Formats: sequence, structure tokens, C-alpha cells
Amino acid sequence: MVDTAQGAAAGHGRMSDRGRVPSDRASPAIRRDRETVAMDDLPERLRALPCGRRLLEAAAGLAGVHLVGGAVRDLLLGREPRELDVVVEGDVDALAARLSGDGTYVVHERFGTATVRRGECCWDLAAARGETYARPGALPDVFAAGIEQDLERRDVSVNAMALDLATGRLRGAEYAEEDLRAGRLRVLHDASFREDPTRLWRVARYAARLGFDLEEHTAALAAKAVAGGALGSASAPRIGNELRLALAEPDPIAALEAAVALGLAPWLAPDRALAERAITLLPSGEGRRDLLVLAASLATHDDALLADLEFTAAERAVVRACAQAPALEDVQRAPSQLARALRGLPVEAVALAGACGAPAPARRWLDELRHVGLQITGDDLRAAGIAEGPELGSRLRAVLDQRLDGALAEGRDAELQAALQKRPGASPA
Ligand code: ATP
Repeated sequence: MVDTAQGAAAGHGRMSDRGRVPSDRASPAIRRDRETVAMDDLPERLRALPCGRRLLEAAAGLAGVHLVGGAVRDLLLGREPRELDVVVEGDVDALAARLSGDGTYVVHERFGTATVRRGECCWDLAAARGETYARPGALPDVFAAGIEQDLERRDVSVNAMALDLATGRLRGAEYAEEDLRAGRLRVLHDASFREDPTRLWRVARYAARLGFDLEEHTAALAAKAVAGGALGSASAPRIGNELRLALAEPDPIAALEAAVALGLAPWLAPDRALAERAITLLPSGEGRRDLLVLAASLATHDDALLADLEFTAAERAVVRACAQAPALEDVQRAPSQLARALRGLPVEAVALAGACGAPAPARRWLDELRHVGLQITGDDLRAAGIAEGPELGSRLRAVLDQRLDGALAEGRDAELQAALQKRPGASPA
């Protein structure tokens, strides 16, 4: 690590220090997407967030409390941080107690971490630590350390920045500031991807979300790690976790495309147009966008792979239904025919069927037809003398078909009459 503000000439083993910025860069600014953020605004930007203000208040008078990682990156970019991660040199108890006020907090002694929730706010606290890896792909062994070592264990330079809340000093890994300005993702050392291959997925997500490119050497290291089978050293559940995070991104398709471009998931073949058409068909507030995007992006359906990646049986059932959904054609089908093809399918499967074929029938089913019901129930038929069994269900379905096709007068009586009618091939009521 070097002092980024002074450039590489400052030498290794030091972090950048806002207090030692040379005069020609006294007011450096991050420029991305027409946003200009003066670095010196950082504590003010934090204070402008309700949870940031509470953090600053709770940390007042405590030494060694730092805002770290994505929160610093996002504040510098003028983006709202998704979460506030805090690293404390020493233990996290004092800060956790102050942040929680009357509330409760959970300290995980073994990891030196704590999660504090209060009202709308949630802070993740961790004691500053270094990491070693017993073998590539293993979970790291951690040891207590200072903030500089804590930054050295991180994935990419733009995530390896820390704002000291007591002094306002911003430390960063070598190149952190210029990478942020240039929109570049750069790992901190050559063994990074080998040590922890989930970082390959992480850079794919950041590239997609932030619109950043991989720095040239980092791209070469990623390609080498993938070609050398680095991903095989991470457990399938860990890869599954990364996939789920990618699917939860604001633009999950971009995240999957980035993963595929890096060679991380040959079993994916994302098709943006298809996935977007399907998402548009998903009824608002219903269904799982992440599973729909996954189903639309799988090169071939592979239930065993999804099980290895620790998708639950219920989640896999949705993806399977998507894979097996009937092709919808844009010919005028009778509503009852549509119902026969789509009834019982998860909304995701209907949306994908519409996206693969014709959207209009899928939309009609989702918006209108699937909500059509009968006023009578099985109880009414039983009371009228129809025995319990398949016959009863098929009579109800036949009446519903008539209702869907508009072939039945309104009301309970008409429904009951139709249900009790003698049916060809059916036993008499
Ligand atoms: P966001 O929450 O916006 O996705 P983030 O950068 O806060 O981004 P987290 O997954 O919450 O991401 O991780 C917090 C920080 O911890 C990261 O910024 C990074 O510095 C570090 N980190 C997380 N996972 C790893 C990893 N596998 N290797 C190295 N550093 C990591």
C-alpha cells in the first residue's frame, strides 16, 4: 500500500492520508457521471444521512472508529450507501452500546463483530482485523490488527478506503482515489482472486452496478484465475451466495452478463431482451424477480446445479416451472384453453412463457383471468347430492370454463344449475 494522494513515489506500506495531500491536489474531487464530490465533504455527506448522523454522534469522543468499504466509495461517488460498515480499532462494544441506545445489539465475540439495529438504521461493526488463508478458496483465518491492515485484506482499491470519524482523515489503498475517479476496479495484490475466488463475482457485480471497468492487470489476473480453475476451490454454496447477490442487484442482468464475460458461469446465457420482457409481465408486488431472471438466464435447466448452489426446493420448483412453461402463441385462444395451460403455474413461469412467446395471453391471464372465480363451492355440489371425488372437481372446473368464456349468466343460481347439468360421459347428478 502506498500513500495514494502522493502517488506511488511515497513508497510501500503506507496508506493515503488526507492530511498530507500536496498543494496542487488540495481540493481533489471525484468525478463520475457528472457528479463532482469534494473529498473534504465526506463527513458532511455522512451527517446528511439520518443513520450517518447517529453514527457520528455515537462515535463522538471514541478513537479509532472508521466508516469503511462501500459506504465510503458510494459517498464519494455521490451515491446513497446501501449500508454503513464500521471498523473499530479495538473492540466494538462501546460503540455498539452507544449506537443501540435503549435497543439491543448482538455481538459475535468470536468474530469481533456486532450488528446494531435501531429504528430504520442498521450498522455492521467489526473490530479491525487482518486475514490469512490456509489454502485458496478457504474461509480466512483472522487476527486483530490496525485499520491499515484491515484495508489491505479487502477486495478492490475503491472498497479499501476508511474515513476516521474522529479526525475526518481518509485513508485508502494505493490507487483508491484515482481508480474511483477513473471508474476502475483493481485488486490489491496478485493472489487476490486465487485466495478468494468469490472476489471474481464481486468485481462482476461492481462492474455492473457502478459501470466500472476492470483495470488491465486485474482483468489479466481474473482471466488467469478462471483459466486456472480458481472457482473450483470455492464451495458451491459460496458461489450460490454470490449468484444470489448478483440476482439482487438493481440491474441483475448486467451483473450476470459481467459474470459470463469473466467466464464465471458457463451455465448462464443471459438474454437481456427476454429477461426484461418477462420482468415487465411479472405482476407488481408478486413473484420473485430474482428467480425469473435466473430462469430466463440459464443456458439449460439443471436442477442438480441449483441444488448444489443451495437454492431451496421451493425456489427450484419455480425455476423448473419456468423451464417447463408452455409456449404461448398470439392466436386468439379461448380463455378456458388458456386457463388449462396456465392454471397452477407460478406467476414467474407465466411471465417467462409470455416473454418467450406472446405476451398478450400471459398478461390477460395474470391481470384478469386467473382472478375469475365461482360463487359456488364443492360444499354446494355435495349438498346437491354430488359425491366427493374427481367428478365434483371436474364439474366445478367445467363451470369455471363457462364463466371464463362468458358462456354463463351471472350469479350463484346459474352456476349451480350448470354444475348439476347432466354431462356427456359423466355420471348423473
Ligand atoms: P455493497 O453493500 O454496496 O454491495 P460493499 O462494498 O459494502 O458493497 P459488502 O459485501 O457489504 O460490500 O462488504 C463490505 C466491504 O468488505 C467491502 O467494501 C470490501 O471492502 C470488504 N469485503 C467484503 N467481501 C470481501 C471479500 N470477499 N474479499 C475482500 N474484501 C471483502
